[in-house]
Amino acid sequence: MEIIETIPQMVAWTRHASKNLGLVPTMGALHQGHLSLVERARVENASLAVTIFVNPTQFAESEDLTSYPRDLESDLEALKNAHVDAVFVPKATEIYPSGYDTWVDVGSVSSKLEGEWRTDHFRGVATVVTKLFNIIRPDAAYFGQKDGQQSVVLKQIARDLNLGVDLVICPTIRDENGLALSSRNSYLTAAQQREASVIFRSLVAGREKWESGERQADVIRGSVEQVLRGADLITGIDYISLADSETLNEVDVISGETMLSVAVRIASVQLIDNVVLG
Ligand code: AMP
Repeated sequence: MEIIETIPQMVAWTRHASKNLGLVPTMGALHQGHLSLVERARVENASLAVTIFVNPTQFAESEDLTSYPRDLESDLEALKNAHVDAVFVPKATEIYPSGYDTWVDVGSVSSKLEGEWRTDHFRGVATVVTKLFNIIRPDAAYFGQKDGQQSVVLKQIARDLNLGVDLVICPTIRDENGLALSSRNSYLTAAQQREASVIFRSLVAGREKWESGERQADVIRGSVEQVLRGADLITGIDYISLADSETLNEVDVISGETMLSVAVRIASVQLIDNVVLG
């Protein structure tokens, strides 16, 4: 497995990689959720690159860029064991050299949900993913449904900018209690992590209402909220959303494929999760 830090070296590597190149972009602190993407990409591609880059432009000033969990040594070990061919680990100045001033600004889908309070978050994500695609030119790139809105934003760019990369969205991996794996779970104590399974239980309550034939978004939202409000651990609910899976417009009555998503606070940590209905 090659470990590459500079863009010219990465470009040189990709130009010699076999056709059918898969890419898994990550911010490191890898867990089984990330590794599920890597495993699938490994099966589906002749060559496989993973990037580890804690992208500063997707963090607001008030957010956790400096404290974001990092564990390069164990990440590299896990990727080697997963038979990855190359890992791109650029420094921030390699991706954003002095004078850098070009941004990929996605419209409506990036301004809703997470975008409402994390202004510029998706601009940072869209910009770095576009740059990584331009550097590595993968045939397919793998992302998690865990970050449901991110997938929608990236599909929008791929369509609008003719990126020519197949986006493969992989299922959310959860712990045995249902909590979606996330690097940020490490901010929680073990007891909080156990109790945080209420997030997925709330989504399941909403999904069960829908499965029993309920189509009114308010009613489904209400059943999710009831479960969340019952947990002392939850210190705030940022949103409970039922939105069209492609446009992210909120729906009143569920007809087509709809993403039920929540963002909640546990102490100061924001956790997000979603399930797709239909
Ligand atoms: P991150 O390092 O948080 O930027 O995540 C890198 C990729 O892994 C993104 O496409 C995420 O959606 C995906 N991912 C993160 N957590 C999970 C999970 N629990 N299950 C599946 N994919 C995940």
